[in-house]
Amino acid sequence: MTPPRRWLFADQLGPHFIDDADSGVLLVESTAVFRRRRWHRRKAHLVLSALRHRAAELGDRCVLVASETYRQALADIGETVEVCAPTSRAADALVRRLDGVDVLPARGWVLRRDEFAEWASGRRRLLLEDYYRDVRRRLGLLVEADGSPVGGRWNFDADNRQPPPRGVSRLADAVAVPEPWWPQEDDIDAEVRETLDRWERDEGITFVGKDGPRRFAVTHDEAVQAVEHFMARRLAAFGAYEDAMLADDPWMAHSLLSVPLNLGLLDPVDVVRRAERAFRDGIADLAATEGFVRQVIGWREYVWHVYWYTDPDYRNRNALGADRPLPGWFADLDAAAVTARCLSDVLADVRDEGWTHHIPRLMVLGSWALQHGYDPAALTDWFHTSFVDGYDWVMLPNVVGMSQHADGGLMATKPYTSGGAYIKRMSDYCRGCAYDPSVRVGETACPFTAGYWAFLHANRATLAGNHRMAQQLRGLDRLSDLQPLLDQEARRGDGPP
Ligand SMILES: Cc1cc2nc3c(=O)[nH]c(=O)nc-3n(C[C@H](O)[C@H](O)[C@H](O)COP(=O)(O)OP(=O)(O)OC[C@H]3O[C@@H](n4cnc5c(N)ncnc54)[C@H](O)[C@@H]3O)c2cc1C
Ligand code: SF4
Repeated sequence: MTPPRRWLFADQLGPHFIDDADSGVLLVESTAVFRRRRWHRRKAHLVLSALRHRAAELGDRCVLVASETYRQALADIGETVEVCAPTSRAADALVRRLDGVDVLPARGWVLRRDEFAEWASGRRRLLLEDYYRDVRRRLGLLVEADGSPVGGRWNFDADNRQPPPRGVSRLADAVAVPEPWWPQEDDIDAEVRETLDRWERDEGITFVGKDGPRRFAVTHDEAVQAVEHFMARRLAAFGAYEDAMLADDPWMAHSLLSVPLNLGLLDPVDVVRRAERAFRDGIADLAATEGFVRQVIGWREYVWHVYWYTDPDYRNRNALGADRPLPGWFADLDAAAVTARCLSDVLADVRDEGWTHHIPRLMVLGSWALQHGYDPAALTDWFHTSFVDGYDWVMLPNVVGMSQHADGGLMATKPYTSGGAYIKRMSDYCRGCAYDPSVRVGETACPFTAGYWAFLHANRATLAGNHRMAQQLRGLDRLSDLQPLLDQEARRGDGPP
């Protein structure tokens, strides 16, 4: 008997989402998805390009339906279909409501949801470190026969958090690291551009951000090329500088794999096995390899499970009671309106590429939003739509939990925010800035430094019970200029810093 047609969502495009070499495939381009929210133009491009490339690869066995909604597309083809459980709660609920859709377990993850639930049950905090070690042991990845970590340590964070090399504007000026792998655009990309132009012109669909050359893999073959390039030529430099920022080098030695991973083009276990091989072959040292592996089967998997393990109301958590709407300049990526060099540059990267690495996301954008009490749900939505790798499952834990501490500390033991001193140490931004990271009050007061103290003051009562914040709160008590600082921050209000 021919198996039912396999419906693949746009983030299920790798070979591991199909079992049968001959079965039919359904792909859907839903315009409602793009109409509901204002996506980054680059994100829309990547999704359409990936769907259309997959349809071209599969040829006659695949039907690509362009439709307003998924429901309409299914009605149009009039067949029973099966689908791997989708990655968002909304899509998961939809496929389970629709008639004639058989839902299979989710794919592309190391642990099943019930295995994670078993791991998590009875734990007060779901700590990444505990989860990560468990997954390494289960996979036998960089693990000795007796279960101990290769090299005697599980964690190389201390080696991997170095500031950028001094006196250079690009990482390649100091260490051997070639450009990332870049794709070649083709006719499908050109057609996608025409479609997006038409949607903007005729369909009332609007985008945020700028168009530009496609930067990320959208097919399995491209994704494998990107992985191979990274493992052979960039992984070695990844570890030491993974947290560092340089204004002229947004990519540093990062892998740029979040887009192909989140489109479902790569199996994450294959990716980390390739990293392990690079280490065993002497291409990258252990610290760099561990740092990368931690990101993929640590953070990425952990975030996925936190999304499904927490209740649906997780998205509305707001432990710090933050309720300010996102100001227009922030929401619209108006980098030119911002004087603070770090924030302006990072907003420009989001505007131009729809991507920055994790530290600009956490310690510039997220930290700014936290200090200024932006509504966590609105901020989550903003990250989701403004970043090329944004999906509901990955944004919620990263923004509500990690970045805004809105889950009350389930994911992170203390809020991730800092004054300008951290940005100064980890980047070259402060050198060319109109502000001074060591100044709290006055013309040149760094908005991050002043914002940090104002944040601590505003949230003192909530943070007082957190022993990891005790030292910072004692520092707040010692400030002699707290009132002028608070007055200054109140005057700055919602305007661009
Ligand atoms: C506030 C905030 C929002 C974020 N939003 C997203 C998002 O929408 N989509 C997304 O994929 N990542 C997100 N991240 C995680 C991380 O910033 C990106 O995965 C990474 O910057 C992508 O670039 P890269 O592929 O070069 O990653 P690398 O630095 O090379 O890391 C390798 C891979 O690890 C994975 N990874 C690392 N950290 C995380 C994490 N915290 N959550 C999930 N995966 C992780 C990614 O798949 C990434 O490709 C967010 C982080 C923060 C702090
Ligand atoms: S001085 Fe402050 S605002 Fe300017 S770049 Fe440094 S941290 Fe950012």
